[in-house]
Order: sequence, then C-alpha cells, then structure tokens
Amino acid sequence: SNTILLNNRPEGKPQESDFKFVEQEVGTPGEQELLVEALYVSVDPYLRGRMRDEKSYVPPFELNEPISSNIVAKVLESKHENFKEGDYVSGNMAWKKKQVVSTDNLQKVNPDQAPLSAYLGILGLTGLTAYLGLNEIGQPQKGETLLVSGAAGAVGSVVGQIGKILGLKVVGIAGSDEKIEMLTSKFGFDGGINYKTTENMKEAIGKACPDGVDIYFDNVGGEISDAVLFHINKMARIVICGAIAVYNKTETPKALAVQPFLVKNSALMQGFIVSNYADKFKEAAQQLAQWLQEDQLHYEETIVEGFENIPQAFIDLFDGKNKGKMVVKA
Ligand code: NDP
Repeated sequence: SNTILLNNRPEGKPQESDFKFVEQEVGTPGEQELLVEALYVSVDPYLRGRMRDEKSYVPPFELNEPISSNIVAKVLESKHENFKEGDYVSGNMAWKKKQVVSTDNLQKVNPDQAPLSAYLGILGLTGLTAYLGLNEIGQPQKGETLLVSGAAGAVGSVVGQIGKILGLKVVGIAGSDEKIEMLTSKFGFDGGINYKTTENMKEAIGKACPDGVDIYFDNVGGEISDAVLFHINKMARIVICGAIAVYNKTETPKALAVQPFLVKNSALMQGFIVSNYADKFKEAAQQLAQWLQEDQLHYEETIVEGFENIPQAFIDLFDGKNKGKMVVKA
C-alpha cells in the first residue's frame, strides 16, 4: 500500500485501526506541478485534533481520505520552472509514498545546510513554534525563571535552550529520568522534574523554582499545569502552546479554576498558534539556523523507519516514546 487514510475518528487514544492502508494511483504531474517521493514524515500531536469532527483553526481530516502532515520529499519529476528533478522540498503533503503536488505551499530545503529531517523539527514548524511562542507571548527578560512542560519534546527542548541563550533560569517537566538527564546534560536546563515519578508536583515545582515562575510555556495542560499555577509570579506570562494531556480525553476534564491565580498575580495567559505569526517566520528561521550553526542550539530526534510505521509513531507520541522530534523515515 502507498497511502494512509483516516479510517475512524479515534475515541480516546488513537489506535492502529483508526488508520487504513490502501493502494492509490499516483498520477502524472500537470503544468506547474511536481511528482514527489516522501522521505521524512512529521507526526505531530496537533493531528489528533484534526481527527475530530469539530471546528478549529485547521479543518478536520475527512474519513477515508489521506491524512496529511509536514513532509520532506524529493522531486522525481517537475513541470515547474523553479523546481528540478532531485530538488528537496518541504510542506504539508498527504501520507503517500509518491504524489503529485502543486508548488503553492512548498519550500525548497537545502540538504547541505542541515540533515533533511531537521526541516521538520528545529528548522521547521516546531522550531518556529518554540521561538515565536516564547518571544511573542513569553516576553522573556534576562534573569527570569522559565518553566517548560513537555520539555523533552520537539517544541519544549528548543524553548528551554532559547531560554538559556537569553539568560533565563530554565526548568523542564518531562516523563522519564532519562529525559530529565537529557534536559540538563544535552540542553543546558538548570533543572527538571519527572512528572511520572513525582507524587506532589506542587511541592516539586516550588523546590525547583524557588523564585517562582515568570514564564510558563505549556505544552501539556491538565494536572501538571494546575500545579504550576500555585507558583506563578506577579505579571507572569503563560504561553498555551498545546494540551497533549487532554487531547485524548473523552469527557471535559475537571480543571482548577485558573481565574483567581491570574487575577491575584496580574498574569497573562494566552493561546498560541504558530501560523498566526507567518510574517515572522523568515527572521525566526534565520535566528534558529544561526544558533544551530554556532552550536548554541542542539536538537534531538527520534527517527522511526518505514512508511508502514507512521500511524504507530503518531500513537507513540501519546506514550512519550519520543525524545525531541518524532519523525518517520518513509
Ligand atoms: P512532543 O515532541 O513534545 O511530543 C509529545 C510529548 O508529549 C511526548 O513525548 C510526551 O513526553 C508528552 N506527553 C504525552 N502525553 C502526555 C500527558 N498525558 N501528559 C504530559 N505529557 C504528555 O510534541 P511537539 O513538540 O510536536 O508538540 C508539543 C506540544 O506543542 C503539543 O501539545 C502540540 O500540540 C503543541 N504544538 C503547538 C503548536 C502551535 O502552533 N500552537 C505547533 C506545534 C506543536 P513525556 O515523556 O514527557 O510525557
């Protein structure tokens, strides 16, 4: 099979049976189109939202239609003057081994600047999310304390490193001791909390952030974020980037009333969607590439082999099986 369709809308945690493998005709490119072959496929938590039939900032996937995500592909045939056979491109494409695409939202990527998979992570949307979410909403000031949830993932690991570059104290929350060790040794975080083995998160956050939390970069939501609220400082900024802890919930979770914490501290809590900041992508991407080149930024990726393993790699995000960016080598 060369194509992956959405078979069911998942109930709770996604399962293999929510996906269907089929063989579809590839077709030939018309004027201005390309025939491309997928090399690296990004699997992302936000795709879970698109599997639900509800209104959001991107339309839902249709049942029995291919799922799509960001993909780095190789051009096999080009009918467009700006692209030639052998070029590498990235953009939102279907979960197909080969496909005909319009060039509208594709970008060329340079394999000499960075490994191709990096264009799905540190030099792609998750890098931009980290940079723009932290800077635009977090408004970091030297010496402040930054707390990051989902800290060992694609976005979180970059948020923390940028925090360190900007002179903040950085603490991360993640789901294993190995991940916490990676945060401090590889990414320069000042400390970390394993939420899976910590019984009292409220107390642990207080210990790890003795001066309180000025910026909370939230990738997970749920109980972890409830515990953080007890430690926010006056004028704190809370960047709501994602809420993976609630994406699979079938009932509306009982949450702490956040309002009193925000009022008492004159704190800001704001949702963030990276695509709203498209006018800043170029500048952000240049800065990330420069830091990478200067060895100030590092990245981790978990590369799963095989097109047939795309659904499982996606499901594994919800079990924290990835360190850094989860990518499938098709
Ligand atoms: P990650 O690389 O962080 O992968 C997901 C991680 O989430 C897992 O590795 C796991 O790590 C953690 N996790 C899974 N389930 C839970 C849970 N129940 N409670 C706490 N942690 C959990 O993914 P991304 O970096 O791609 O995305 C991170 C977040 O940012 C997501 O919420 C995503 O939706 C959001 N996002 C938002 C964007 C925007 O524009 N707003 C753009 C891109 C991403 P662990 O072992 O620590 O549990």
